Amino acid sequence: MYNEKLAIIYDEVTARNPGEVEFHQAVNEVLECLGPVLARHPEFAQHKIIRRICEPERQIIFRVPWVDDSHEVQINRGFRVEFNSALGPYKGGLRFHPSVYLGIIKFLGFEQIFKNALTGLPIGGGKGGSDFDPKGKSDGEIMRFCQSFMTELYRHIGEYTDVPAGDIGVGGREIGFMFGQYKRITNRYESGILTGKGLDWGGSLVRTEATGYGSVYFVEEMLKARGDSFDGKTAVVSGSGNVAIYTIEKIHELGGKVVACSDSGGYIYDEKGIDLSSIKLLKEIQRGRVEEYTDTHKHAKFVKGGSIWDVPCEVAMPSATENEVSGKDAKKLVENGCIAVGEGANMPTTPEGVKIFLEAKIAYGPGKAANAGGVATSALEMQQNASRDSWTFEYTDRRLHTIMRNIHKNCFETAEEYGSPGNYVVGSNIYGFLKVAHAMVAMGVI
Ligand code: GLU
Repeated sequence: MYNEKLAIIYDEVTARNPGEVEFHQAVNEVLECLGPVLARHPEFAQHKIIRRICEPERQIIFRVPWVDDSHEVQINRGFRVEFNSALGPYKGGLRFHPSVYLGIIKFLGFEQIFKNALTGLPIGGGKGGSDFDPKGKSDGEIMRFCQSFMTELYRHIGEYTDVPAGDIGVGGREIGFMFGQYKRITNRYESGILTGKGLDWGGSLVRTEATGYGSVYFVEEMLKARGDSFDGKTAVVSGSGNVAIYTIEKIHELGGKVVACSDSGGYIYDEKGIDLSSIKLLKEIQRGRVEEYTDTHKHAKFVKGGSIWDVPCEVAMPSATENEVSGKDAKKLVENGCIAVGEGANMPTTPEGVKIFLEAKIAYGPGKAANAGGVATSALEMQQNASRDSWTFEYTDRRLHTIMRNIHKNCFETAEEYGSPGNYVVGSNIYGFLKVAHAMVAMGVI
């Protein structure tokens, strides 16, 4: 569906941002959907909305020096890309992982613009992080790194400007250290500057569970639209972090059975269904490896180096990282009878894989729609902070559930309206884009 104008813009973006392959991939996926939108809305071309949307409003890159446990000075690179603030303050997580460079943060920030628009809540798009590797670091090292990171970041963020949160490598512990440092430097207790905070100091119930629960709610809606449900379904969930854990929990609650999950060392297969309390203990408390699951569950298998997508399932939930589902994996999933895919991670399926899912006409929920529950609940945390209130678990979960249902409905209806029924890639990209584009037109050339 690429028209000539969009192809030119895409070429400009790749030339302007050399080597940032993940960013190119994310832009390409959105632009590919926008041909029919430009045909209906010539004003977007006139206002150069697409070119503007592809250029971050602000990109901050900074040095993060810190001292490790052997008293050696270490230097990392910190990033915050404030991509688009048409709908609200920049909002999006921080990722600490050695693979982080500007291209990763830009792809995540770009995705975040449309994801956040889909939530229907007043949040713009941004993302940040560092190439710091938290693996094997002591609590003291993590704290000193987070303090140094915030010593620069604090001047750029704020309740009304930019509100970071967690992503890969950044959870409650890191948010705590960063909030503490912000409070110390500024001498202000501003709850609304970060989300994903602890429950005793401004955090929201359900935020921890939200991305996982939300992606299951989204898949539940896709299944419902096809007259089906999770009941009795076999599922595979990649990853074993926060997103994967609460995806497994919700699938089990809805009567499905998750038989495999993974980490960077390999995957475990348990035909009786993954015992979630063991995974929680292993990952949340002991910070161990999934391989150790087989120490206590002798019947389970650990597979090193293979692809978790070889495990037959009806529902697949990629919840680890970008490009973890190749074309070959997607083909295998479809061959094995997979009928639904819900992406808990950001851009986990390669373009070849997406094509295979769409051609097979299975229910494919792309990350920017399926995993929007995390950031949506962050926006609910911001609401609670702004009103100095805290809501119950049940109420917050109900709000999350309604948000996910609405995202599904909007994507579903937009796909129909633009002539691609059942295509949630088209539905999510067009719906998210339209919201941001209309706001940008209204606000003039800024
Ligand atoms: N990192 C999450 C995401 O990819 C959550 C961001 C947030 O809560 O701000 O959407």
